[in-house]
Order: sequence, then structure tokens, then C-alpha cells
Amino acid sequence: MSPLLSVRDLRVRFPVRDGVVKAVDGLSFDLDRGQLLAIVGESGSGKSVANLAVLGLHDRRRTEIDGEVVFDGTDLLAASERRLARLRGDRISMIFQDPLTALSPYHTVGEQIAESYRRHRGASRAKARQRAVEVLDRVGIPHPRLRATDYPHQFSGGMRQRVMIAIALVCDPDLLIADEPTTALDVTVQAQILDLLGEIRREYGTAVILVTHDLGLVATAADEVLVMYAGRCVERGTVRAVLKSPRHPYSRGLLASTPRLDGDVTRALEPIEGQPPSLLDPPTGCPFHPRCAYTALVGGERCRNERPTGRDVACHLPPGTRLDAKDRR
Ligand code: SF4
Ligand code: MG
Repeated sequence: MSPLLSVRDLRVRFPVRDGVVKAVDGLSFDLDRGQLLAIVGESGSGKSVANLAVLGLHDRRRTEIDGEVVFDGTDLLAASERRLARLRGDRISMIFQDPLTALSPYHTVGEQIAESYRRHRGASRAKARQRAVEVLDRVGIPHPRLRATDYPHQFSGGMRQRVMIAIALVCDPDLLIADEPTTALDVTVQAQILDLLGEIRREYGTAVILVTHDLGLVATAADEVLVMYAGRCVERGTVRAVLKSPRHPYSRGLLASTPRLDGDVTRALEPIEGQPPSLLDPPTGCPFHPRCAYTALVGGERCRNERPTGRDVACHLPPGTRLDAKDRR
């Protein structure tokens, strides 16, 4: 069966006064129906930009974009604005980090959910209202019929994020893109929101892309993880494999620098040294080389000069190299 979403060699560039920002630089991945893929990286790694481009939400006049993004047979990069608008909120939906900016303060949450259903499904007002209550109930809002008449500011942060998920779910999408959906929330609420995404995926077969800077967060939620650095995928694999034995030094660094919801809380965190690269003038060869502690194991100038390729891990280290602190230069 062909994947639900297939991204091939996606490149997203923003021309600015001093040059061209290469926000996404040759990203490829597939997503199957019902799969939960986590895309992980520091801020500025291109993970959000890539997803906005998938949805056609980038500023088309000021962005250069190449590659192929095929969603269930439709090439999204070639699709008209009208076609994209029909897909968004219906078959593909998105939830963002900050529900307050995504929700209208002037309408009740029930109205906002119903409005999406009416627009895409042509449902009557009564039907749409009924559907709004149904999804509010599904995402765990207590007293959904009453709460449907409340405004966004009357909800807590976690409940507001549930409202966003309700809007995203109202048309029963095939693909849900969640961009840092829990960043603003405290840890317990984060775990609840992730559990909810997992339930939705299992119950409705919705594929989910979870965009996050927090590798610890994906441990219990995702099937696969794709680690991005400088607009590229540096490692992709099952969550189990990447968390247990990361093969790319950057993945290892991310893992060592983030707390794990499921792990040893007493473990000391090691920050990754150095700064994320400039996307205006990215390093030559392997973009991670200025920060990498393993270049000596590769030897010579290879890391500086030769861009590593490889679908699962983009690194010149010989396969099977153990990434431990003791190997460091
Ligand atoms: Fe480090 Fe070289 Fe691998 Fe890049 S290619 S991650 S610099 S060892
Ligand atoms: Mg982002």
C-alpha cells in the first residue's frame, strides 16, 4: 500500500537581504496511515517550516520551494490554493503550540468547532452544534454541552489545547500535524495531551506528525522518530532504536540533554556544546561538524568537506560505532 504522505527531497528557502535562508534542505520521509511520527530538533532546525510547507501554509510569494509532497495521491506543492483550503481542516488538520492565538476570542468554542464542520461538510447548524459537543466530549472536556457555550479565555491551557484538538478532529482527518502541542503546558498535562493523541490515532486510524524539540516527549507516544538538524534529516528510526542506541552524534546529544518522562530523573543532563548553525551560511560537509565530538573517529577532513547521505543515518562514522562519552575527542 502506498504511504498516506510521501515527502521527497523537500527544499524550502527564504530569500532575505543578506542571502538565502535554507530552512529545509532536502528532506524525505514517508508516513503510513495510522502511524505516529515524531519530528524532533532544536528550534530553527526546519521542523515547523517543513510542516507548514506540507500544508501549503508558507508565504508562497516569498518562499522558494522544491521537491514533492504527495498526500493520498495529490501533489500538495502543485495543488491550487482552493484545493489546499478544502483539504485543510478536513482531511489534514493542524494543532499549534499556542491555542490562544489560534482560537478566536470573539466566538464560543462550540461555534468555532461547528463552523469548521459546516464549512467542510455542509452540515446544518443543529447538526454541527451536535457534532461540536460530541468532539468536546471525545477530547475529555467535562460537561461538553455547557462548555461549548464558553469562550476560549474561560478554559485552562490544557483544556484549551483539548479544544484545539477537538477542532482538528471534527471532520475525522486522515492526518493530524501537531506542532509543539504541549510546550506551554506543565508536565502532567503534557502527558495527558500525548495520551489523547495516542488514543485518537488508535481509535480513528489518524496518522499523526508530532513536531517537538523534546526527544524525551516522544518516548511513549511515537512509533518512529525523525531527527532534524540544519534543515535535514540526520537520523530516522523506530523510537525504541533511536532512544536506546542513537546512531547520529546529534541524536545522542539531544537525548543526553533532555529529561525523559519515562526515564531516570536523577540522570545529569549534558547540554550540546556550541550553537545551532546559521541557515544563511550553513557549515560545509556535515552541518553538525562544528559541534561534533566524534570527528576524530572519522579521521581527516571528511566531516568538514563531504556531506553525509544515508536514509536512516546521515553520518560518516562506521556503522555500529558506539556513541559514548569516552569516545569523545
Ligand atoms: Fe559528526 Fe562527522 Fe558524523 Fe557529522 S559526519 S555527525 S561531524 S562524525
Ligand atoms: Mg517551531
